[in-house]
Amino acid sequence: MSECIFCSFAQRKIPCELVYSSRNTMAFLDIAPVHPGHVLVIPKAHHPTLWDLPAGLGEEMLETMQKVSKALVRAVNAQGLNVVMNNHKAAGQLVEHAHFHLIPRYENDGLRA
Ligand code: 5GP
Ligand code: ZN
Repeated sequence: MSECIFCSFAQRKIPCELVYSSRNTMAFLDIAPVHPGHVLVIPKAHHPTLWDLPAGLGEEMLETMQKVSKALVRAVNAQGLNVVMNNHKAAGQLVEHAHFHLIPRYENDGLRA
């Protein structure tokens, strides 16, 4: 069985640069950031896509994303923030454990995300 790297982070089998953790969610720095402070927010349990997430996780996930976004924008002095999610390979999903990208943005930074 192939290992899921994000499950390994959630289960603390492999270390990651943890930014925030709640009971069922966590946030850590992306290994290949688009900008410094590029964070990934995941459910700790393995669910492949947005529509696999249990409805009961919604409130906690939103709270995590809001808390991390607010702190992140302040920490890196961003002027904006993209929330991006890729679902399935055709849409650019490389890690098949659902994750939201939080990407700090700046005026005229040249990104198209
Ligand atoms: P996707 O293309 O699936 O939406 O995004 C996967 C993201 O996971 C990419 O931005 C990639 O840089 C990040 N990533 C892949 N492997 C690792 C890893 O081992 N550690 C961390 N922190 N991020 C990873
Ligand atoms: Zn997983």
